[in-house]
Amino acid sequence: MPAALPRSPATPAPPNLPDKDRSVASAVLFVVLVALLLVASNVWLAWRARDAEWQQAADAARNLTHAVAQQTDAMFAEVGRVVGSVVYELERSEMAPDALERLQPLLVTHVAQSEHLHGMFVFGPDGRWLVNSQPVQNPQANNADRAYFIHHRDSPSTRVAIGKPIVSRSSGVWIIPVSRRIDDAEGHFAGVALATIRVDYVLGLLNGLQIGDKGAIALLLGDGTVLARRPFFAEDLGRSLSGTPLFQMLTQSRAGVATAPSPIDGVRRLVGFEHTRNNGLLVTVALAEDEVLAQWRRSASVQALGILLLVVVIGLAGGGVIQAIRHRRDVERDLTAARDALVLANDKLEHLAEHDGLTGLYNRRAYDQHIANAMARCRRSRMPVSIVLFDVDFFKKYNDFFGHLSGDECLRQVAKALDASVRRPEDMVARYGGEEFVIVLPETDASGAALVASAARAAVRALQIAHPQSPFECVTVSGGLACCDWTDGAPDNAQDLLASADAALYAAKQAGRNTVLSLAGPGARAA
Ligand code: GH3
Ligand code: MG
Ligand code: MG
Repeated sequence: MPAALPRSPATPAPPNLPDKDRSVASAVLFVVLVALLLVASNVWLAWRARDAEWQQAADAARNLTHAVAQQTDAMFAEVGRVVGSVVYELERSEMAPDALERLQPLLVTHVAQSEHLHGMFVFGPDGRWLVNSQPVQNPQANNADRAYFIHHRDSPSTRVAIGKPIVSRSSGVWIIPVSRRIDDAEGHFAGVALATIRVDYVLGLLNGLQIGDKGAIALLLGDGTVLARRPFFAEDLGRSLSGTPLFQMLTQSRAGVATAPSPIDGVRRLVGFEHTRNNGLLVTVALAEDEVLAQWRRSASVQALGILLLVVVIGLAGGGVIQAIRHRRDVERDLTAARDALVLANDKLEHLAEHDGLTGLYNRRAYDQHIANAMARCRRSRMPVSIVLFDVDFFKKYNDFFGHLSGDECLRQVAKALDASVRRPEDMVARYGGEEFVIVLPETDASGAALVASAARAAVRALQIAHPQSPFECVTVSGGLACCDWTDGAPDNAQDLLASADAALYAAKQAGRNTVLSLAGPGARAA
């Protein structure tokens, strides 16, 4: 047992809270990560599905466009061929009246056999109607003011021209003119042959296709003039879209798919387009963006709702787990705090049980334990054990002179001086009782103990605590030394050892105090 002055019990280390907080933080992070991962993967999947849906719609638009382009191109090419054959016949016969007469039933047959043809006409160089497919001829009628007539009159080109839609003078319906210039033998303008295509027939073609409620199909001339459009609005026919950004975009390549708002109704659409090979027409099939993505939007919303529910469930479950971890942490913290308080209380009790309250030195109980252990140890190894019993000289007078409180302070200082005079870890200084102290010196013989005792006595005197009632004028101590060296006659138990030290102390008092004596053998000996 060490000999140092009071050591209060160590304050217990705080519980390892950061570790627990880390596990709460990890749990929170885990829950958040799982939720984020779930949301992110869902967003990714939804985006992929949207892409697939869009791609599918683009393919459908491309295919429909191609089908419409083929059909209308073939129709215009066939009408062009019929017009061409009429022109050939008239040029060959140099517009002879009998040739014109023979032509009339032929035109009637052509129109009757072709669903898309509205009528066929031949105009003279002045615009007069020479012959047509109608049952009644009208020699007064004149078409010199029509755009197609003016075009052929002014242009030497013998190519078939497709004009913008107009309202027929003969029937009042919307028609598309397909015309060609007729030359005489010298190459001068001799008239115009015209076939007209019913716009409602073309619309019938377009209306038969599935393009949704907000879809649109348009047939345009190469210069951007609208020939027919679904949905149908009369004011759209003949309108030119050449200046619109969409048209500019569609002229960049022969066929493809683009996304843009319609220049006609502003609806944003996925537009499949194709320029026909023979007539340079432009066909566009446009599917409304919101209709294309409607199905995807519905399933994505349902999926998002499901994921949201899942995230809520994960959040709630995670919250429960985190709550449980926090609860466990709090319980553990309380338990640790309670355990530490107990350990502290226990340490304090132990300290109190072994120490003297006034001086902080070990008490008599601790001395009894310590001397018993030391003697048992040294008995086995035959090593000596010494003790020195000290008593403050004339202490009653000190008390009487200075009062009890000063007496207590004096005892504290004496205790400190005695405690400081022992060096080895196994040495011990205890307050035996009242103003008596005992020093235990294991493995120390009488001469060694005498040196320690003498130094301890000198240390007390060196304190120079004033004591006017003492002949030494300061506080001093007397000591009685006893040694157990296992020789015959020497004390060999704690009780005898103390009795021997007490007797030596008595002798020291008798000898005048402020001295240390030992009673080795019959006579007293100064230490
Ligand atoms: P001697 O030189 O023969 O030892 O004379 P003494 O006066 O020291 O001896 P005595 O045994 O007659 O007196 C001891 C005194 O120590 C009596 C008691 O009041 C005082 N005393 C014992 N314990 C304490 C204490 O804890 N505090 C104080 N202030 N005095 C104490
Ligand atoms: Mg005494
Ligand atoms: Mg005394």
